[in-house]
Amino acid sequence: MPLSATGIDPRGFRARIWSMQTPIIFWYRQDLRTHDLPGLAAAAATGRPVIPCYILDEHAPGEWATGAASRWWLHHSLTALQADIASLGGSLLLLRGETLGQLQQLLAATGADTVYCSRQYEPWAAALEEELHEQLSATDITFKRYAGSLLFEPEQINNQSGLPYKVFTPFWRHCLKQLAPAAPQALPALTNWFTAKLDSDCISNWGLQPTQPDWAASWPQQWQPGNNGARDKLSAFLNNGISNYSDGRNHPALDCTTRLSPHLHYGEISPRVLWHAARQAAAESPALDGQVAKFLSEMGWREFSHHLLHHFPTIPEQAFKAQFRNFPWLPGADRLDAWQRGQTGYPMVDAGMRELWHTGYMHNRVRMIVASFLTKHLMIHWREGAKWFWDTLLDADLANNSSGWQWVAGSGADASPYFRIFNPITQGKKFDAEGAYIRQWVPELAAIPDRYLNCPWEAPEEILRTAGVVIGEHYPAPIVDHKAAREAALAAYASIRVA
Ligand SMILES: Cc1cc2nc3c(=O)[nH]c(=O)nc-3n(C[C@H](O)[C@H](O)[C@H](O)COP(=O)(O)OP(=O)(O)OC[C@H]3O[C@@H](n4cnc5c(N)ncnc54)[C@H](O)[C@@H]3O)c2cc1C
Repeated sequence: MPLSATGIDPRGFRARIWSMQTPIIFWYRQDLRTHDLPGLAAAAATGRPVIPCYILDEHAPGEWATGAASRWWLHHSLTALQADIASLGGSLLLLRGETLGQLQQLLAATGADTVYCSRQYEPWAAALEEELHEQLSATDITFKRYAGSLLFEPEQINNQSGLPYKVFTPFWRHCLKQLAPAAPQALPALTNWFTAKLDSDCISNWGLQPTQPDWAASWPQQWQPGNNGARDKLSAFLNNGISNYSDGRNHPALDCTTRLSPHLHYGEISPRVLWHAARQAAAESPALDGQVAKFLSEMGWREFSHHLLHHFPTIPEQAFKAQFRNFPWLPGADRLDAWQRGQTGYPMVDAGMRELWHTGYMHNRVRMIVASFLTKHLMIHWREGAKWFWDTLLDADLANNSSGWQWVAGSGADASPYFRIFNPITQGKKFDAEGAYIRQWVPELAAIPDRYLNCPWEAPEEILRTAGVVIGEHYPAPIVDHKAAREAALAAYASIRVA
């Protein structure tokens, strides 16, 4: 849609603008908040009229175009941001199209001469920032990007040789030795908004929400995208989950983690807010020290993933460890399909895949189990799993997803060793001992006693009959035998170690 100041003659408009202060554009990206946002605060501090805008550019990310679940989140997150900005007296401008062209039209239409934004770390996003810098500065437009999505910028953390870290523990130790992240900034005094009316898209025309099937129908009961929803999740965590985080975070039936990942991905809450809230909790209650340290170290994995993506931008596509580029991955459309649909015959794996489909989320422990199953039991390439997660996770994040998959597959930096093959049966018995998680997501097995819940095919006929389960009819037989699959995976691994 061509952008113009509606109903205003461009020449007269420009003359009027020049007699006022020159406006400044704040280009929103994955930073959909108003508080603790350095770029927005800097724009407000100029005292010039601020034009907040979001551009839906579906070309820039290439094959990493926003996945279906994440598009649902984006719709609601932008709606929440529109309301937040409106409550401050402003109006979020929504534009759609190629970013450079849209910004150039907006600059021309408003007489603005400056664009501020927050930095992003995806290779496509970093390349876009370079392009904008080059093209806009060639026409005397100031383009500035600000930090705001991480606790520590990737360039800030180097090992003794001045190189990026490839191992988490020394990386995080080094981070903890830095000056603590600054306290979150208060909401800037946003009193001077650009008020001339501009043609804004209507978010309902962007088709971000799924329709056929509408698999997001139940999500609003569980998720509230936007800063208010993020703050509620943080409060719930500080009041409850944090006291048992270290151990509880491994048990998918417990509610011990924050579930802030999609809020963090879209920047609705800053990591600094979480850092300081967690530190504050430990200061008030020293018994929480260990839990808080564990929580911050999980935030540290987020930092590490972004550090890796920044320094090794091929990690979404290519094995970090070169030997894994020759790994004999197997084709297997049917098996991939069974995995995606939660029909592998391994209850813990199926529970996770169904949780993902129904809620747009999967517990971290279960992400590791299902990813190990795909890459080791089925020997299907980790990229297939990463692509499915990309489309179905509300928190789909290029840095965390790529490094999570490579970590499990064994091909990543500081990865879990390939020979660590999660046993889906013992993992279920250990981390879902009472079977609450499996019974929730695989209800056809609800009446199977705990002892056989993770391996129903081993249950005696009578137990199956009493539970009303016929294996192969109500619930699938295992699509691979655990022991044989494990041996095949180890043999494949030996082949690349020798090569
Ligand atoms: C195969 C695989 C794929 C993954 N894909 C994603 C993804 O696309 N997006 C995503 O945000 N996370 C991903 N993770 C990491 C992790 O599973 C989620 O961040 C976590 O489950 C989110 O739940 P939470 O917010 O309750 O976490 P909490 O335990 O409350 O942790 C707080 C925050 O720390 C960060 N975090 C926690 N664990 C990790 C981790 N292992 N790696 C990186 N950051 C972490 C997240 O931002 C999280 O919101 C993946 C993990 C695996 C094994």
